[in-house]
Amino acid sequence: MLNEDMKKSYKDLVEAHDFAHTGNWEMDMIQIQKRFQVLVQQSSDVFEIISPDFTIQYISPAVEKIIGYTPEERIGKNALEFLEMEQKQEFIKMVDYVLECPEERMQGDLALKDQNGKVSYLTYTISNQLQEPSIRGIVINWRDITDRIENQKQIEYIATHDELTKLPNRVALKKKICQLCEENADLNYNFALIMLDIDGFRYINDALGYQLGDQLIIQVKSRLQGFLGENEFLCRYTGDQFAIIIQNMNQSWEYEQVVKKIAMLFKDAYKVDLYELDMTVSLGISMYPHDERDPDLLINYANISLLRSKHEGKNRYKFYSSEIGIQIYKQVVLRNDLLKAIERKQFQVYYQAQVELESSDILAAEALIRWDHPEWGMVSPNEFISLAEETGFIINLGNWMLNEVCKTYKSWMEQGMAPIKVSVNYSSIQFFEKNFVDNIITIINQYELNPHFLIMEITESVFMKNPEKAIVDIKRLQYQGIQVALDDFGTGFSSLSYLNSFNIDILKIDRSFIKNVMMDDASTIITRSVIDLAQELRIKLVAEGIENQEQLKYLKGANCYSGQGYLYNKPMPSDEFVQLLAKKKCLPTQLLNEKKTGKEHRKYLRIKLPKLLEADMSIRKRPEQNFNVGSVKVEVKNISSEGLCFAAGVRLPVNNELQLEFLIPTKDGKEAKICGYPVWAQETENSWYEYGVEFDHSPSEKIDLTMELYSLCKEMYNYN
Ligand code: C2E
Ligand code: MG
Ligand code: MG
Repeated sequence: MLNEDMKKSYKDLVEAHDFAHTGNWEMDMIQIQKRFQVLVQQSSDVFEIISPDFTIQYISPAVEKIIGYTPEERIGKNALEFLEMEQKQEFIKMVDYVLECPEERMQGDLALKDQNGKVSYLTYTISNQLQEPSIRGIVINWRDITDRIENQKQIEYIATHDELTKLPNRVALKKKICQLCEENADLNYNFALIMLDIDGFRYINDALGYQLGDQLIIQVKSRLQGFLGENEFLCRYTGDQFAIIIQNMNQSWEYEQVVKKIAMLFKDAYKVDLYELDMTVSLGISMYPHDERDPDLLINYANISLLRSKHEGKNRYKFYSSEIGIQIYKQVVLRNDLLKAIERKQFQVYYQAQVELESSDILAAEALIRWDHPEWGMVSPNEFISLAEETGFIINLGNWMLNEVCKTYKSWMEQGMAPIKVSVNYSSIQFFEKNFVDNIITIINQYELNPHFLIMEITESVFMKNPEKAIVDIKRLQYQGIQVALDDFGTGFSSLSYLNSFNIDILKIDRSFIKNVMMDDASTIITRSVIDLAQELRIKLVAEGIENQEQLKYLKGANCYSGQGYLYNKPMPSDEFVQLLAKKKCLPTQLLNEKKTGKEHRKYLRIKLPKLLEADMSIRKRPEQNFNVGSVKVEVKNISSEGLCFAAGVRLPVNNELQLEFLIPTKDGKEAKICGYPVWAQETENSWYEYGVEFDHSPSEKIDLTMELYSLCKEMYNYN
């Protein structure tokens, strides 16, 4: 018979299960029990009950699907039997915990091998049900998450491997180096990071096409892998650059032996398709911990050394040395960061007006790319376009650029601006893209724009690298209404036959001629002839780089139709340019006056030096982190108690995190050490920059320094 309590439990149970109860409690209980049995048996999860000594009391049938054993084979066995040592300990700890704290649940993951060695990934929860009369054991609920983990692994694999060679990629390299540095921080341990780059690969790719280039890369990988074996780390770092890690050699010359052997792997020619290619490689090496302990800097240093091998004539190796210099360091940083710069939204498009010289009407805008780099500030395209060409990244960059230009142009039109043209620069490498013209048209169509607004600026290298394709592509572009301008005319071969055979619409005379017009005869004669020639051939002419009224006067006198240059406007962001566009005209203004006379930047009395003072400048990112990248020669123009002004051939960002250190030779072969950070910069001539530096010294140091500088100046004046 049921007592009152049992009756209530029975009633609750039947209600909770929305059960069509028969009124016969025994029958009903059997039904409910049956229901749970079916649920447990059909579930893909595994339910297991073990005793505190780990003996399996019950396990549901799903276990067979996961580890291949039937419940009968498992019941009575020890639950730890199938676990690896580490997993065992983890599992025992969790069971101990729920035994101690019965109200808690524990959760964990583990990997289990089935009878055939296939690994399944499981997640489980453990709860203590020893006090529950119907169970009297520890309940473990297992769920198979193999699919999820395999998916994650697949995604991880794709993110860290190169598709062509199946080798780890640069993301994996960084991870590997971080792991090695972390694991071995306190040990007497070392490794060499070797960067290897195929010399002249770009030309092989250009001449023979990407498919053969790819075959070559695969063969290079096989040779390297054959030599290194399975245990050494080999990765495809970028297009034709591989990275290798060699670990734990006793002496540095042993590393050198390995590097030599790697270089020797390339002495036999490669057979690719019908071609036999003789190739060489350049190598750059950095050493952990000797050169650096920081993974990013180690990679940078290996890249710097590689670049140095290339600069010194290729087919050689270079170990890192701090003598390398700031300019190469900057190139390495830029090369490293370039690929990510689109997604990090670091590019911008600036616009410069092309003006009809007689009327000052704006005819077109030249779109010029800018890279706002977090460390180096605004980087000029001259510093990164060739890097983008080397890696093939120029294709993505070109697409990004055209998208931006279309977006901006559409917004100008929507704001009711006059329908000028926009001139976009294209690199010869972009002509190697298979669907080059179609891609351009697709992008323009996306913005519902008429292709007539676009001018494509190319240089003569387009005709030299791939003339057949260039002729076809240019015709197709012109058929769509896109005009083609030949940029920088006069700097390359300047073959006049190009003008005819390629049916160029616009010719741009390079600014080097405009700069010297009226100053040297050759430039004046060439400029004059190019203007006449363009008129005869009915090609529109743009004079580049007009900087002053004299040049403008000459060009107007010679009937030059249009031009651009700082005299009209410096390239500017689109929101500023649109204000200019709204006026329709862009008048020549002597902007450069300001530059010529030199802007007054200094607040303090400065000591003007009788002659430029040569100093060594090195760069540090922050005071506590010394960048070991050597120094560059600079010319100090003047000094005050608070700062100095110097000129250098390297472009630096203006940023107070950038510590500069100057070593200025003083009396008796000694040196004064001055530290500061740049507070302003300006371009003076081609690739030559002037900077103002504010000193970063304590007041007492400043007094000493001023005394020292004062005596130095006195000496210079006496000497003069
Ligand atoms: P470019 O096409 O000959 O562009 C003209 C360059 O001269 C621009 O330099 C412009 O700022 C500069 N300039 C214009 N007027 C004057 C002047 O009066 N005086 C002086 N000193 N310079 C003047 P920027 O913007 O640094 O670009 C340099 C080169 O980088 C460009 O030369 C072009 O060849 C390339 N470039 C720029 N943007 C792109 C791009 O989106 N794609 C490709 N492939 N190349 C680009
Ligand atoms: Mg141009
Ligand atoms: Mg140009």
